[in-house]
Amino acid sequence: MIRWVLTCEHGGHRVPAEWRHLFHGAEDILRSHRGWDRGALCTFRTLAPEIADEAFYSTTTRLLVDLNRSPHHRAVFSEFTRDLPAADRASLLRRHYHPWRRRVADRIRRWRLQGHSVIHISVHSFTPVLDGHVRNADVGLLYDPGRELEKAVCRRWRKWLTRLSPDCRVRLNYPYRGTADGFTKWLRQEHPTGYAGIELELNEGNVGRRCAEVATHVLESLIRLKQELSDPSRTER
Ligand SMILES: [Zn+2]
Repeated sequence: MIRWVLTCEHGGHRVPAEWRHLFHGAEDILRSHRGWDRGALCTFRTLAPEIADEAFYSTTTRLLVDLNRSPHHRAVFSEFTRDLPAADRASLLRRHYHPWRRRVADRIRRWRLQGHSVIHISVHSFTPVLDGHVRNADVGLLYDPGRELEKAVCRRWRKWLTRLSPDCRVRLNYPYRGTADGFTKWLRQEHPTGYAGIELELNEGNVGRRCAEVATHVLESLIRLKQELSDPSRTER
């Protein structure tokens, strides 16, 4: 059986009280795409009750510690936290980072031990313009092309997204590669098979302004995808 887990790592720009002094005067940065994924949590909240067997989200800013970076990746800490004393950085990892990663990883591990396959969708948004370049996609699906389950799921998901809304520009492994450092990549190492880690990347220009519309479209595509995967005879209708 397939189990579905949804996560939203960059759902908010909250700063816990004890760390607020680090961000004085940086409120604009916190509220920009650097601080969080605008529209991602709103979409996640639409999808999770309908799609997920279990769902996890965070509203703490990624500028404190980035849940979507590996523990030793340079970008796990931002310019606000990178130069903190080692004990403070260890505290951030211990209190805000590892508990999240452990909760999700434990859930997936238990399902795998029970013999289930797991589809993990990690919900994000991307800024429509970066360094002067307009990103020409509405939805990106990031996956590892070397993993058959991920490839198959993303191709089918793209089909449903475009079938239900022909104007929707869906691109695979855009604006980032699914194999870049991230939580899904980390989980793939533990689960060579039976785990599909897919990042859903939504154009913030759409999802930030009209989240309900975008989220409903994504939800409909996922409902069809889920039906198709549980009953392959539906595949080409
Ligand atoms: Zn993100």
